[in-house]
Amino acid sequence: MKTIGVLTSGGDSPGMNTALRSIVRTCAHYKIKCVGIVRGYSGLIEDNTKVLNTRSVRGIINEGGTFLYSARCDEFRQATGREKAYKTLRNNNIDGLIVIGGDGSFTGATKLEDEFNFPVIGIPGTIDNDIYGTSHTLGYDTALNTVMDAIDKIRDSAISHDRLFFVEVMGKDAGYIALRSGIAIGAQEILIPEVNTKIKDLTNSLKNSKKSGKTSSIIVVAEGYKPEKNVYQIADEIQEKLPNYQVRVSVLGHIQRGGRPSCFDRVLGTQLGVRAVESLIDGNYGKMVGINNGKITLTELSKAIKGKTKINKDLLRISQIMNT
Ligand code: ATP
Repeated sequence: MKTIGVLTSGGDSPGMNTALRSIVRTCAHYKIKCVGIVRGYSGLIEDNTKVLNTRSVRGIINEGGTFLYSARCDEFRQATGREKAYKTLRNNNIDGLIVIGGDGSFTGATKLEDEFNFPVIGIPGTIDNDIYGTSHTLGYDTALNTVMDAIDKIRDSAISHDRLFFVEVMGKDAGYIALRSGIAIGAQEILIPEVNTKIKDLTNSLKNSKKSGKTSSIIVVAEGYKPEKNVYQIADEIQEKLPNYQVRVSVLGHIQRGGRPSCFDRVLGTQLGVRAVESLIDGNYGKMVGINNGKITLTELSKAIKGKTKINKDLLRISQIMNT
């Protein structure tokens, strides 16, 4: 392994820069050349690359986003696009590729491996925490802290005006951000794709809390929770059923992807970067590096893509006890 390539792909997440810094420095440690590919698979198709050295990654350990830029690239979904990408890998004498991204990016990486027998390693970089084989994806912890800070501020307004706030957080297919942040901010209810909470039950819960003297409430809603309605429609329906509440909606949106990585994500990004390079050196390809019970682990990329992570049932139970 003389030259390692690295790219960031899909949605950005805090900690990607930290992982890049770690990869570049680990390559330097093992006297391996490191080539950065700019804008994910688009850069791989267009041969948009730059050689990275330890100075290239100065001062980025605490920066959000990714200095290599990220992209979604439809051309890479086609075999012709991947042939161009493979040519770039060959032109730059790259012997192994580290892909930092979500399950879509990993699917692309496995195709490079299957079609060209090319060594790849994945680092799970996504705030959604929806990747099998790791208890935490890179950026998840930071996103949770961002959501918690934002909702704490919304709560100030909710209390001052006796309001009921519906706060929508990211998570199209998974409720991890909603469940954990919802517990952390003391949400009245947490609505996630994995649980079919009925509007009727939500209305009853709010009625009961009003009876018990509660004057303001926060409902955390994952993007993916949709009983055929979006957060605004749910809020309208509740407003109609409970006219005594002043209902408001806040959609947190892209602030959840940004910001300086938390301590946890900085350490995780550094650990994952080191292990990714060392796995390529060891000839342990086609794997995703992750963390489980505090240990850095390797999972087959195909399993990481296909496997389903399950919502923590105990956290769900706890959140329901807290609603009492
Ligand atoms: P996020 O979790 O933030 O959405 P992601 O990695 O899942 O990240 P996607 O947009 O799904 O984001 O995928 C990123 C890129 O990976 C795509 O733009 C495409 O270039 C490549 N990719 C995704 N799916 C495939 C596929 N089936 N075949 C080849 N390449 C793919």
